[in-house]
Amino acid sequence: MESHEFAGELALTGELRPIRGALAMTLKAHHDGRAFVLPEASAHEAALVRGAIVHPAKNLLAVCAHVAGRESLSRCETTPPHCYEAEVADLSDVRGQAFAKRALEIAAAGEHSVLMVGPPGTGKSMLAQRLSHLCAPMEEDEALETAAVHSLMGAFRVCDWGRRPYRAPHHTASAVALVGGGSDPRPGEISLAHHGVLFLDELPEWDRRVLEVLREPLESGRIHISRAARQAIFPARFQLVAAMNPCPCGYLGHPTGRCRCTPDQIARYRARISGPLLDRIDLQLEVPSLPAEALPARRGVVHEETSAVVRDRCIVAARRQRERQQKPNGRLQPREVERHCVPDAKGEALLKSAFARLSLSARAYHRILKVARTIADLASADTIAAAHIAEAIGYRRLERP
Ligand SMILES: [Zn+2]
Repeated sequence: MESHEFAGELALTGELRPIRGALAMTLKAHHDGRAFVLPEASAHEAALVRGAIVHPAKNLLAVCAHVAGRESLSRCETTPPHCYEAEVADLSDVRGQAFAKRALEIAAAGEHSVLMVGPPGTGKSMLAQRLSHLCAPMEEDEALETAAVHSLMGAFRVCDWGRRPYRAPHHTASAVALVGGGSDPRPGEISLAHHGVLFLDELPEWDRRVLEVLREPLESGRIHISRAARQAIFPARFQLVAAMNPCPCGYLGHPTGRCRCTPDQIARYRARISGPLLDRIDLQLEVPSLPAEALPARRGVVHEETSAVVRDRCIVAARRQRERQQKPNGRLQPREVERHCVPDAKGEALLKSAFARLSLSARAYHRILKVARTIADLASADTIAAAHIAEAIGYRRLERP
């Protein structure tokens, strides 16, 4: 029995019923060099683990025959499907908003988090939905990790293999739903978004205590869940995209001039987001409502770049980062920033003057350098120049609302 592992739900009839987490368990069994016997309905997803020996079994008698050496179980093999390109919303569907699209490109290239501020109907959620398709395709071990988390929730479908997840929980979601937990700890939305995008719309409406919990995974890429009896660590390396209205009514700065919010109301609304969380968001930008004449009359009149074109640039920039420092710029620690994100003399002078003028925090200083590093990588530049710094500072304008 030493070479085998078994899991399944045994029915009174002796049939084996599917279980949750088959893929995650297979990863572990394969790592330990053991074959895995699973109910037929769970074997298909488990066999996505490359090289794993997975035996599907219909009932307990078949398992006994296999163990006794009377009749071997077959081996299940699954070829990862190629459905990644299908049914994907494209960046060219979003009209105008060149500034926001550029921010998304930077976010995708360097794995940076994003906050978009703008009135309803300006395409913030459309933009967020399209971010993961601008990122480089998942590596096989990333795809496995993501599939394993979804498998734990019984929510993995083989056709989702290799697709970066997009999760958009509602602001009424509980802390447990967002970060995970429960008496038998389960992963939450932040883990289901592992290696993908977590979109939090209407950020000021979220319970502040719920959002505070995001700080740990934003730094470490994992979440530690501690309940009286049990402890669990789930992966949670998600890319955060948040959105909010500029004021309580949502129409501050709108061309119709219909906003009647007082400066006091606006300040209180924005203060609902904690400084430490805001500090952890690399790219902060406004997504304004566009006057009708700024939009092309119909599709095709103005050339809008497709996701595929932007993704090609992001992949090149991501490769530069991997070769230089083995991780995306968005994940650099302060020490690594000092080593890899050194601007030239003009860039440094510009950054110093902006730092004093905008009274930025030390954390914000590092974030600007990381974003500037990504902008330089997108331009295939080895050195961070003043132009890269200037563009990066443009994504910190909301720092002190
Ligand atoms: Zn308003």
